[in-house]
Amino acid sequence: MSKADLILEANDIYKSFGTVEVLKGISLEAKNHEVISILGASGSGKSTFLRCLNFLEIPTSGTIAFHGEPVNIVNGKPVNPKHIEAIRSRLGMVFQQFNLWTHRTAIENVMEGPIYVKKMAKNLAREKAESLLERVGLKDRMHMYPSQLSGGQQQRVAIARALAMEPDAILFDEPTSALDPELVGEVLKVMQSLAAEGRTMIVVTHEMAFARDVSSKVVFFHAGKIAEQGTPDEMFKNPKTEVFQKFISNI
Ligand code: ADP
Ligand code: MG
Repeated sequence: MSKADLILEANDIYKSFGTVEVLKGISLEAKNHEVISILGASGSGKSTFLRCLNFLEIPTSGTIAFHGEPVNIVNGKPVNPKHIEAIRSRLGMVFQQFNLWTHRTAIENVMEGPIYVKKMAKNLAREKAESLLERVGLKDRMHMYPSQLSGGQQQRVAIARALAMEPDAILFDEPTSALDPELVGEVLKVMQSLAAEGRTMIVVTHEMAFARDVSSKVVFFHAGKIAEQGTPDEMFKNPKTEVFQKFISNI
């Protein structure tokens, strides 16, 4: 592997809220085309870690490097913050609750980033948004508002919106956890197709089949630390730690 294959490196990330230490030294790297599933019980720090990766939260300490350009954080302050904007604009994020603009149609949601952040011409942004909505199977719904769409459709719009920014990697925080069970599959199918086309993805999920069949690496969080990580085969066929054995036996 050459250094150019490394997209994102988090090194020894700590995060406290007040006196509560939520992340206790997490290190993780994402290589190009890698699909990493993050598993772990509720409260183990998964969302906080994802939010630290794109600086929605500022870690208390640690280093986050994007394409080899490090941002060091000391006492909750980035020492060299100039890369933060680049990281934010080149990492996509898909949230559990979709976070679409409710007063904008599906296509307007997808066009927004390219127009306002990337300064793309409106007609080009519209063309791009149309083809992305087609890509996620929603061409016929593109003028509907989020309230007129099912949860699964809203999440597919959110994925199209992330793709519109041409991210180098996409972070997903439990993208199917808010969905009715019958709508989970349509979202997982889109995510699987993104993985198949070589997208770099970091996915917090409770979908064990996705973690096992789609990801290249599985990471298990426990109480703010990585308790165990490995290939899906290693993790599911031969779980090593008692906490991870217990976690998968409860599912
Ligand atoms: P997970 O996503 O694994 O369920 P989170 O990262 O959401 O876990 O939360 C980890 C811990 O951090 C929880 O105890 C949660 O209450 C706490 N936490 C998360 N965000 C905040 C915040 N903004 N302020 C205070 N505590 C927080
Ligand atoms: Mg969470």
